[in-house]
Amino acid sequence: MKISIQLNIDHENGDPAIIKPIAEFRRNDLTSDTLGLTIEGSKILLKNIQFELIQQQIEQYIAKNKQCKQCNKERKIKGYNKIVYRTLFGKIKLQNPRLYTCSCCKGNEQKSFSLLSQIISERTSPEFEYLQTKWASLVSYGMAANILEDVLPIHANISSIYNTTHKAAKRLDAEIGEEQDCYINGCEEEWSNLPPPTTSLTVGIDGGYIHAREGDNRKAGWFEAIVGKSLHETQSSKRFGFVCKYDDKPKSRLNTMLQKQGFQMNQEIVFLSDGGDTVKNLQKHIAPYSEHLLDWFHITMRITVLKQMIKGLQDVLKEELSKQLESIKWNIWHGNVRKALDKIDSFSEDLYENEIDKSSKRYKFWKYADEFYNYIKSNQHLITNYAEKYKYGETISTSFVESTVNEVISKRMVKKQQMRWTQEGAHRMIQVRISTLNNELKAAFYRWYPNINHSNDTQSVGNLAA
Ligand SMILES: [Zn+2]
Repeated sequence: MKISIQLNIDHENGDPAIIKPIAEFRRNDLTSDTLGLTIEGSKILLKNIQFELIQQQIEQYIAKNKQCKQCNKERKIKGYNKIVYRTLFGKIKLQNPRLYTCSCCKGNEQKSFSLLSQIISERTSPEFEYLQTKWASLVSYGMAANILEDVLPIHANISSIYNTTHKAAKRLDAEIGEEQDCYINGCEEEWSNLPPPTTSLTVGIDGGYIHAREGDNRKAGWFEAIVGKSLHETQSSKRFGFVCKYDDKPKSRLNTMLQKQGFQMNQEIVFLSDGGDTVKNLQKHIAPYSEHLLDWFHITMRITVLKQMIKGLQDVLKEELSKQLESIKWNIWHGNVRKALDKIDSFSEDLYENEIDKSSKRYKFWKYADEFYNYIKSNQHLITNYAEKYKYGETISTSFVESTVNEVISKRMVKKQQMRWTQEGAHRMIQVRISTLNNELKAAFYRWYPNINHSNDTQSVGNLAA
């Protein structure tokens, strides 16, 4: 059996329809592996339909626009140049006619012009850019190329996926407003007139480290990126992120994320973080009714390290130290910072000797305990009665942000140790990745190319299976 696919092109102007052959499928013995269309078959089909569809659109456009707009006389063709247009269904070479300017428009300095260059300003179709960006935000550029080639009739080029992704990231970045010192506007009276907010917001902010690539230096260090996530009771959560030393509008990013969740000035917001300076600054002057907390997760991480260190000590004090540590934890949990600090102070003091060996476990423990003291002390204004908040079901830990660090940074940018990034490259990747994870990337492309979504122009015809 032979099944032929043809295009029937009707210009809807009274001219007879044009038939264009597209593909033929031969099927003889039926087995489970000959049933239906193959990937290869679908690629041929899509590629040929795309080619014909585009040719027809271009021909129609040229026919309609060859004439002079002033006197309606047909303009002469000087020659042709080629436009290579990349689409989801293949790379198409378009014949772009160069037309002479009509004699009625004399004085016009341009003697000739390319007709298609005016309408086809980009060389890649928006949806192709969208899919390249989306996949590159999820997996490596090479993997993204593989995925696209698996299902589409194209040859995917890694460097053009890279360029496309960066272009989208720049566009996303350009939509973030200029940085301001303060995002609080209005006054208390105005805020009280706002409709009551349905829920409070919880925002967790944390940092992660990315392997640096500085020129040819293979041993360059690491740089920090900050990511945050906002939890809403009824809407899906949103993320934001940036590379600290590269970005110049971090606050605006945070504010944009909150706006997306419908944040209003009379809404309560809890910021949870590990208390670093960058993060502290970020949260300032964002919301009038905000609470800033040191998150419980980062405190317990440090306590766990101390616990492990105590286990490793060959010390008579071991048991006593464990007991003291439990009590320190209990005091912080209940927000008794003063008491906790006294206890950390005395417990590390006991261990210090004048001629202590600096490579000893005892010294290392003392040093870590000292750092812990400073950590709690410098963040004491951010410590709350966690026990009580926990009792009332409030979020007290950014472990959900720890997972954001993992989903935004680590999975794509750190896990493969050979991957090294420039600060700009990492920042751009974070922008597209967040857009994908926030489920906003497609909407962004539809915003930039509002004509993509002409669903009314495509109809399914015939007796097709549902
Ligand atoms: Zn003319």
